[in-house]
Amino acid sequence: MAWVHRKLSLKSESVAVTLIAISLVIGFLTVVEVADLGVRERDRPPHSESITAAQLNLSCFDSSTVIVQITSEGNCPLGLIALGDSPLQQITDSQSATTELHPILLERFKAAHLAAKREGVNLYITSGFRSLSRQELLFEKAVDKYGNETEAAKWVLPAPYSHHPRGLAIDVNYPGDRQGAKWLELNGSKFGLCRVYANEWWHFEGVIAPGEICPPLAPNALVDLR
Ligand SMILES: [Zn+2]
Repeated sequence: MAWVHRKLSLKSESVAVTLIAISLVIGFLTVVEVADLGVRERDRPPHSESITAAQLNLSCFDSSTVIVQITSEGNCPLGLIALGDSPLQQITDSQSATTELHPILLERFKAAHLAAKREGVNLYITSGFRSLSRQELLFEKAVDKYGNETEAAKWVLPAPYSHHPRGLAIDVNYPGDRQGAKWLELNGSKFGLCRVYANEWWHFEGVIAPGEICPPLAPNALVDLR
């Protein structure tokens, strides 16, 4: 089986040649890399500064000009209202319960309210935070009204799924003046507020960072039953 050995030895020769070639290339690249790093390190600002700049783009609302500014400083300038730097997540107290509307959602709404007012539009919250028992009661009423649980959940989610008891949703101008809700649908993304359901013109959530684009509407609230 000489060809086997021949083959093997050929193989080991070529492996050896390849290894030498690879080490030469790595050695060369390392020299280039080190030289390159030397230049880059000198040009680069101190480490902590570059991390802060990359991570924080806090949105700040100026109520005198009704303009949203972006800062990478970590805090809003004095007198400006912080609207956050990301979609809003549930905030719970020490008992793992939510007892109020998310404070940043409230600030976002207040900012939007002032900007709408400047344009002569009346925007107001008709339902924000709801307790779990209140949400459950509303769901039961909806089941009576719509005939079954699935139809009901398109309009009122059961308490464990609804975003209202988590402090993450607001209903605006419902059932009355639809104009304010339309204004918020068109302008809310500036403040991190989006309409989320196609069947509910009044329901808004803080699902984006201010200035991002709102996601497409879900047909109804059944999308949250998971
Ligand atoms: Zn709602």
